[in-house]
Amino acid sequence: MLSLRNLDKTYANGTQALRGIDLSVAPGEAVAIIGGSGSGKSTLLRLIGGLETATRGRVEIDGVPVSGPAETVGFVFQEPRLLPWLTVAGNVAFGLASLPRQERDRRVAEVLARVGLEGQGRRWPKELSGGMAQRVAIARTLAARPGILLLDEPFSALDALTRASLQDHVARLWLEDRQTLLLVTHDIEEALLLADRVVVLAPKPGRIEETVSVDLPRP
Ligand code: ADP
Ligand code: ADP
Repeated sequence: MLSLRNLDKTYANGTQALRGIDLSVAPGEAVAIIGGSGSGKSTLLRLIGGLETATRGRVEIDGVPVSGPAETVGFVFQEPRLLPWLTVAGNVAFGLASLPRQERDRRVAEVLARVGLEGQGRRWPKELSGGMAQRVAIARTLAARPGILLLDEPFSALDALTRASLQDHVARLWLEDRQTLLLVTHDIEEALLLADRVVVLAPKPGRIEETVSVDLPRP
């Protein structure tokens, strides 16, 4: 269980990004966070991921306060952020240094296949289309087997066709794995496609305006 309790975030420059956020997300639940620009969506994800510290209140995963980036939490950002000096396989293996070589290679091959990039491990980031690069970024995150997956506008830099194909792919991956998923998006259709519940943030300061359950059949 992921719990946010009475969470406030004020940045050092005085900007109040979030105030009084209360939210519980059950294991395996998929929640979309929507809201206008500046409503605190990214801040909320960064607090959950331990990339920022709350000014007040707390974030807990299974009752344990989050105090920094945790292995159980995986991020995917709008930009793939691949390391250009590593191959596709090298990028995916980057966080797996503690695993024995064989297990690492097996895991890399497995996640590349899962995102539709079977046999593409020897390619270089600069050879990839935007959609392929984002698939690699998703594979790199899945390789660590996070229990909680945080997606911050992961499709918004892609063209419409690539976006639709990747949304569908992520919906299927989630149905297989049932991680806890939090998706920040501007796109209400994307939220309805991927989430069990949609949380609407209102700005100045960011707060939960509304929570809507989604009861649509999955693809
Ligand atoms: P139900 O009560 O409907 O069985 P659960 O909340 O127990 O649902 O789990 C839903 C899904 O989430 C299951 O597929 C389970 O494997 C998965 N799951 C259970 N615990 C976690 C966790 N800590 N993080 C991510 N997924 C989990
Ligand atoms: P969203 O993702 O909904 O666009 P953000 O979480 O990025 O919202 O931002 C919420 C508010 O916090 C905005 O007013 C933004 O300008 C401000 N903000 C975000 N990051 C910082 C930062 N590092 N320092 C100061 N203010 C910030």
